[in-house]
Amino acid sequence: TEEMLRKSDKLSMLGQLAAGVAHEIRNPLTSIKGFLQLLESRAEEHLDYYTIMLSEIDRINTIVSEFMVLAKPQAMSFVPTNITELMKHVISLIETQAILKNVQIHYSAETGLPLVSSADNQLKQVFINLLKNAIEAMPTGGNIWITVIRDHDQLVISFRDEGCGIPEERLASLGEPFYTTKEKGTGLGLMVCFKIIENHGGKIHVTSTLGKGSKFTVLLPID
Ligand code: ADP
Ligand code: MG
Repeated sequence: TEEMLRKSDKLSMLGQLAAGVAHEIRNPLTSIKGFLQLLESRAEEHLDYYTIMLSEIDRINTIVSEFMVLAKPQAMSFVPTNITELMKHVISLIETQAILKNVQIHYSAETGLPLVSSADNQLKQVFINLLKNAIEAMPTGGNIWITVIRDHDQLVISFRDEGCGIPEERLASLGEPFYTTKEKGTGLGLMVCFKIIENHGGKIHVTSTLGKGSKFTVLLPID
């Protein structure tokens, strides 16, 4: 209807505005960070303030990047993607972080999987966010199992961890902006994941048992 159309027009204008603002915030931030880094040797007895300033700048950067992903769906270009290759790349990116946290990543994929149409950088972002959450859910370490299989006209990509789990009444809040249980969390990671997968015509399902672990399943259509 006309009313709905107007609403979505407004939303996309807001999105473009947000993307523009995010971009404009990033440039001065990069320059502040650069100069701050030059000052490190002079921070001396204020090294603790210095460290906080740098980490707060990094935090703003993370929030801004996550907003840019959300605000710019029109910049996506879809290409045929080999999920196994993409996943191996993502695992190699995150492996050092995992090892440091005593986390082992196990990957298995069906052979002969079809390509899926994806904005591959954005999909990468989704997998990284899910893996980061899994690692962060296991402060003393553990295992993550990633599996990729085909189910009819869908690719089923699941990430299972042995982490703290999510209380049942909280499952519905996942993907809401700023919902976080972490001291240094942004509560934007999952929102970005949901949004990107929605843009791919897919879905994310979550199951979880408190104290036992969680499983995030990404469903992607095969064309
Ligand atoms: P952030 O990681 O910055 O907190 P996210 O949007 O990525 O934000 O996640 C939101 C919240 O969802 C987390 O703070 C955490 O409470 C919960 N969560 C997400 N993934 C997991 C997981 N694998 N295990 C346990 N809790 C999770
Ligand atoms: Mg996160």
